[in-house]
Amino acid sequence: LSTEAQAVIDEIEAQNVDFLRLQFTDILGTVKNVAVPASQAEKAFTEGIYFDGSSIEGFVRIQESDMRLKPDPATFAILPWRKHEGGASARLICDVINTSTGEPFEGDPRYVLKQAIARADEMGYEINAAPEPEFFLFEEDEDGRATTKTNDAGGYFDLAPKDLASDVRRDIIYGLESMGFEIEASHHEVAEGQHEINFTYDDALTTADNVGTFRTVVRAIAAEHDLHATFMPKPIAKVNGSGMHTHISLFEDGENAFHDDDDEFNLSETAKQFLQGILEHAPAITAISNPTVNSYKRLVPGYEAPVYVAWSDRNRSALIRKPAARVPAASRIEARFPDPSCNPYLAFAALIHAGLDGIEQELEAPEPVRENIYEFDEEKREEYGIETLPSNLGEALEALEEDEAIQSALGEHIYEKFHQAKSQEYDEFRIDVSQWELDRYLETF
Ligand code: GLU
Ligand code: MG
Ligand code: MG
Repeated sequence: LSTEAQAVIDEIEAQNVDFLRLQFTDILGTVKNVAVPASQAEKAFTEGIYFDGSSIEGFVRIQESDMRLKPDPATFAILPWRKHEGGASARLICDVINTSTGEPFEGDPRYVLKQAIARADEMGYEINAAPEPEFFLFEEDEDGRATTKTNDAGGYFDLAPKDLASDVRRDIIYGLESMGFEIEASHHEVAEGQHEINFTYDDALTTADNVGTFRTVVRAIAAEHDLHATFMPKPIAKVNGSGMHTHISLFEDGENAFHDDDDEFNLSETAKQFLQGILEHAPAITAISNPTVNSYKRLVPGYEAPVYVAWSDRNRSALIRKPAARVPAASRIEARFPDPSCNPYLAFAALIHAGLDGIEQELEAPEPVRENIYEFDEEKREEYGIETLPSNLGEALEALEEDEAIQSALGEHIYEKFHQAKSQEYDEFRIDVSQWELDRYLETF
């Protein structure tokens, strides 16, 4: 047993843990788990825990279904909402191993991200990431089902009593802190019932793990308050949707490779190449970072979400922003298009590969756009050479079909399964008849 694994086993005893939840994610980013009694911990670390992969979205066919979970001891955490008299439950995030080869399973999103990180490592970079997942809190109906009635009428940075959710947010923060999160800030977002809690950046893998944990904790603790927390990108039309802005920086030999004191924007050549790589691949990346039909209802002008492929050193209408940084170590770029319905492992992997491509090809970024791009007409956009993001999931999938770099970021297995699942999702939406259509046409024609 490794020292790290032994430390987890000691902790399990010290904390009186009864159950271990072994977690992983499917290709859509849904956290899956299998619970084992804590007495199985040693076996889980040495032999792994076997499960049937054919029941998991995008994993394998029935005839090749045996998979093995290999827990990562660094991810041990007690679940704050499962504590009771008898004992606690804890989770471990796992890598998925293909039992027939003993190698990592290429359908495991965590493995896809690890490969992106390995590529950066070969180029001499470490990657830090910090996401800002926004969410809504809605009331439940009598049957405990989610409604779209917000629990408060607060707005940006409001305080209680308008912001009725501050108690819930406080409990969420306690829960996250007890699982090892360092919380930087929390505030009421622009829309009624909308919130944001920021946690400290970390290496890209830890951060992707954290996104899954964050979504789970927020939902579980909101439920304790009889509220439904949703990370659906645009639950209410005509108000702000929920983004998951992702801040990224590269470090080289312990120094921030994105910082340059002499640059007007304090961005190094490397940072500009990286951001240009993301801009060039943005249409295909959206299929992964904005993977639902609903995602594209957020990416419309006027709600602080990006629509146009450009970068800016201040403007929130741009796809990538350079946030103000207090110290050189904090120089970073903020990709504003991802939303919290994405699979964070795949979204980060796509962003990283696109950025690294930009560095390898020494791409040149244009000057930042400082005006409000929402107000540009087509002519002005053409003059500035500004492209538009895909306007629906179907177009995003088409962009992905044409972008081999982003396909290979996912790997063949995940690309195929993902494309298949999402094409079907888009098709179902396309042939559905919505309430809007009935309201508009039923009595008119
Ligand atoms: N809710 C906005 C979005 O959809 C972002 C607001 C902000 O800048 O935090 O991305
Ligand atoms: Mg925000
Ligand atoms: Mg932001």
